[in-house]
Amino acid sequence: MTNPQLPSPTRYELTREQFAEVLGGEPKYRVDQIWDGLYTQLANPADITNLPRRLRAELSESLPFALNPVTESVSENGDTIKFLWELAGGSKIETVLMLYPDRATVCVSSQAGCAMGCGFCATGQAGFTRHLTVGEIVEQVVRAAQRAKESNRRVSNVVFMGMGEPMANLDNVWHSVERIHGDLGLSARHITISTVGVIPGIRSLQDRPLPVNLAVSLHAANDRLRDELVPINRRYPIADLLSACTDYLAVKNRRVSFEWAMIAGVNDRDSDARELAALCRQLSPHGHVNLIPLNPTPGYPTVGSSPRRVQEFRDLLESLGTNATVRRNRGTDIDAACGQLAAGQPVTLSARP
Ligand code: SAH
Ligand code: SF4
Repeated sequence: MTNPQLPSPTRYELTREQFAEVLGGEPKYRVDQIWDGLYTQLANPADITNLPRRLRAELSESLPFALNPVTESVSENGDTIKFLWELAGGSKIETVLMLYPDRATVCVSSQAGCAMGCGFCATGQAGFTRHLTVGEIVEQVVRAAQRAKESNRRVSNVVFMGMGEPMANLDNVWHSVERIHGDLGLSARHITISTVGVIPGIRSLQDRPLPVNLAVSLHAANDRLRDELVPINRRYPIADLLSACTDYLAVKNRRVSFEWAMIAGVNDRDSDARELAALCRQLSPHGHVNLIPLNPTPGYPTVGSSPRRVQEFRDLLESLGTNATVRRNRGTDIDAACGQLAAGQPVTLSARP
């Protein structure tokens, strides 16, 4: 069943059509059985019991996983699990599973490293290595879902907030969104793509059918400061970015959320809150703000805002009519929090084989 045009495909890389092609002489319903096994049951080929033994063995052999587990770290209270994987070629990426009382969210990586160079971000500090394939992205969700299943939990949400800039790898990200939606069965409204503000990506997303959520990593509400914190702002300044967001919202009927990593003395002043609230008011419906106290990273000496300052900033935004949520720094003890994904730290609180 090997096809020379598809060099060593991994388990979640192939489309249904490619599967049918690879299976060659097998009856059509086999593809449905395999698909159901891999995507609905989250099973390994060996455990898809309605397949003939011969085919199970063949599939196990010819369709390896793309992600080789290096470590799995669990936060002290057990609700955040970080997976470090090695990919073909040796790069390492991370995936985070967050178990909340009412939902289970997987934070996936879209690239090994990132070329956008935001100085406060551990992934940005590491630089870009390569784009992830569709199979590597989808498999992150499946592997996390298999882990959640061990605790009788189902993955309900996927956020593209791990390593990398999703809009710089949009085709693969989009095909993985289709697979996560169509085959793993998540609602598009439970899928969020976070971008540093790559406008052509936002515009392209607008023309694609599923109404996924858009999160924009804003961090500054004027170009002078944003140029400094987020270098891509020099190419895609705030006014243009907002107009791309406005158009996205009009087409998709969604709300945009702005991510704001709070950096002490840099973007947490009252004047920053006022500028941010003014930007959010320009959107319809108004933008929502997620405040994340900056997580410490080795390459950026400035500290995050104090919990008191974060609260004051939030209250000021609310008083100016802007909804703001303070994002808990989940998994800081295992370096699983936003921006701390560097795939290099020797952190293993609870390693599983
Ligand atoms: N590249 C995309 C997706 C990564 S999402 C983007 O930037 O949106 C990761 C989120 O964590 C982004 O909002 C990012 O700005 C934020 N972040 C990066 N470094 C951080 C840090 N040290 N502390 C808190 N948040 C950080
Ligand atoms: Fe890349 Fe996002 Fe980190 Fe910026 S914040 S370097 S865009 S991963």
